[in-house]
Amino acid sequence: MTSLGDLVDTLLAGPSPAPIVTAGDPVLRQPARPYDGQLSAAQFGGLLAVMRTTMQEAPGVGLAAPQIGVPLRIAVIEDPAPGSPETLRARGRVPQPFRVLVNPRYEAAGPGVAAFFEGCLSVPGWQAVTARHARVRLRGQDETGRELDEEVEGWPARIVQHETDHLDGVLYLDRAEIRSLSANTHVLERWSDPAPEAAAKALGFSLP
Ligand code: ZN
Repeated sequence: MTSLGDLVDTLLAGPSPAPIVTAGDPVLRQPARPYDGQLSAAQFGGLLAVMRTTMQEAPGVGLAAPQIGVPLRIAVIEDPAPGSPETLRARGRVPQPFRVLVNPRYEAAGPGVAAFFEGCLSVPGWQAVTARHARVRLRGQDETGRELDEEVEGWPARIVQHETDHLDGVLYLDRAEIRSLSANTHVLERWSDPAPEAAAKALGFSLP
């Protein structure tokens, strides 16, 4: 069996951005291993750099290590929050600086639920309405090992849930309203409203 260090060395010798693993690959369906220092400092730093570049080039607002074939509980997130002020406000989407989540976990922080179209770099071309906790308590570590314990809300809370789910082998489609599944072109041309009420009516799904 290839060690994690060898796996990351192979990744670092390859192209950057790295190829993104798509749905159907078992690595996306297996719980990733907690990161407890299995990599050298150079490997860990190199992995984070490749993850950052791969996320930015895709472009996406988050990337979990299994999405580039590394079964470790590490994710990166960053959201420049493009879009109209109305849409950003409706979705609670605020700029999120680049950050690293190591061994993240979350739990609901309150009863609020938010349902919006969501996509995934590992399911290219499609989006579906996915209900998420509006606010979560995020725990874990950052890349320096500092403990995280904070509450996150709005779109950043959605990103945290999506990326942490990847580390448990869960894809957003597992939680999505499947009748909302729409090709990106339809989302762009028909369902770009701030909220998905019109899509719910036309496609026949319910919102929370
Ligand atoms: Zn994803």
